[in-house]
Amino acid sequence: MENIPSSDTTGSSKTRGLVIVFTGHGKGKTTAALGMTMRAAGHGMKTCFIQFIKGSWKYGELDAVKRFSDCVDFYVMGRGFTWKSNDIEKDKAAAREAWNFAVKVINSGKYAMVVLDEFTYLLLYEIVDPEECMDVLRNKPEDLHVVITGRDALPEIVDLADLVTEMRMIKHPLKNGIRAQHGIEF
Ligand code: ATP
Ligand code: MG
Repeated sequence: MENIPSSDTTGSSKTRGLVIVFTGHGKGKTTAALGMTMRAAGHGMKTCFIQFIKGSWKYGELDAVKRFSDCVDFYVMGRGFTWKSNDIEKDKAAAREAWNFAVKVINSGKYAMVVLDEFTYLLLYEIVDPEECMDVLRNKPEDLHVVITGRDALPEIVDLADLVTEMRMIKHPLKNGIRAQHGIEF
């Protein structure tokens, strides 16, 4: 049992805000961030959940979080920056705007947790300068948790983070031709 921490490992009730990264090519990154949002909501902690890439499905979480509107603000940003785009420059500008918005949210003092969902792609596609991002993370409010999701997190972000989990694909139903299911994929 020695690996299971007691509920108070700090000896203090003061919150130490963490930088948390869910990365990797397996499924579960956004789901994990949503799970954490729910867990925080249970403590009355307020989360701002920002989705940087707009998917084409009608995601269940969009309606689910409306029931937690006292604890969760949910934003789907940008034009849905993807490789299918017909105007990548406009998408990049929208994604950049979304990052500017996220920086304001991080420094607003309004939230206990901020989720930057699919944010890793903004660094990968050089929409946001990694140095600028690290600067924001280093100088974030001390008690704020910031959760970043997306594949291929940059090594410098992994270094800076307090908690990093890599989702590794072992099996995925889509690979066997099983189509996306409500409540599982969207
Ligand atoms: P989820 O939103 O289900 O937690 P995720 O955030 O880890 O997944 P993303 O990389 O954001 O995954 O991909 C979004 C979609 O792609 C999800 O519907 C997910 O099921 C699907 N997906 C994720 N990993 C794989 C994979 N290895 N093979 C096929 N599809 C995948
Ligand atoms: Mg995701």
